[in-house]
Amino acid sequence: MTKKGRVFSGARPTGRQHLGNYLGAMRNYVALQDEYECIYCIVDIHALTTVETTQELRANTYDMALDWLAVGIRPEESIMFVQSHVPQVTELHTILSMVTPLGKLTDLPTFKEKVRQNPNNVNYGLVGYPVLMTADIALYRAGLVPVGVDQGPHIEFARETVRSFNYRFNTNVLIEPQMKVTEVPKVLGIDGVQKMSKSLDNHIELASTPEETQKRVMMMVTDPQRMRRSDPGNPDVCNVFSLHKIFSSADEVANINVECRRAGIGCVDCKKLLAKNLNAHLEPFRARREALNQNPQQVWDVLHDGAKRARELAESTMRDVRAAVGLAE
Ligand code: SF4
Repeated sequence: MTKKGRVFSGARPTGRQHLGNYLGAMRNYVALQDEYECIYCIVDIHALTTVETTQELRANTYDMALDWLAVGIRPEESIMFVQSHVPQVTELHTILSMVTPLGKLTDLPTFKEKVRQNPNNVNYGLVGYPVLMTADIALYRAGLVPVGVDQGPHIEFARETVRSFNYRFNTNVLIEPQMKVTEVPKVLGIDGVQKMSKSLDNHIELASTPEETQKRVMMMVTDPQRMRRSDPGNPDVCNVFSLHKIFSSADEVANINVECRRAGIGCVDCKKLLAKNLNAHLEPFRARREALNQNPQQVWDVLHDGAKRARELAESTMRDVRAAVGLAE
């Protein structure tokens, strides 16, 4: 089947993935494969800008790759690899940094936010982070980057940087990427307040056992106004209900929507039902994950094969870039 174009997306190696990762990105990664040529990258060099210890980087890379494969990334079609396995990305990063005004980088809200989060580690790499991100995309001449609406400014920065490069060297060897905006639900953690995140420990891991999953679901904060079983609830403000809308049948959702409001169902039963449906949904994922995990080398082989294919694309771009810039062969 002819594909509509090339998609690139990268994610930091955060280890075992959780529901927020699944609903926000992984599910979409799988779906995009049907229509696009997909390149999915585990951006381990990006991770170096903020991590204090790199001891878990390799394990986190493996766990994330394992989850990506288990969820349905097809490595025979899509390219799945580790950023640092394609050294050309750092070369393009350096060249693109020559057309990027420093003030533009230090003015970015994301940079200011990182400085606020890591005041004791404001390193040079952190400033150049968006340039490296642009290099990630431009290196593979990807026309499309799947993003949520809030990530628009990152892609706009990449587009401007590519435009500056092409203008400065009077060339068109790099492609300005376009955003492929996807509707992704905002997935709150089990606290019902903050975005689901491993660092906040409010997450539900995809690879947890059914028992662990049920335990986490039972800990979920519901409608804060519903103090007693006899109080009517409001599903519109309840995070459990938000997940029911994704993982439960239309009939079940309709029933909870009515029964919650007249205290016909208690939160305990409502959560038990969610845990049951969530576990049923994740069952095939867990089975595939376990099978793949029997042979870790198989996962590394996928990543190494992906890097080999990615390097071929990268080197082809870099040959054009070096020529455009005027570097000697
Ligand atoms: Fe939320 Fe369900 Fe409790 Fe209603 S019954 S408040 S939807 S957990």
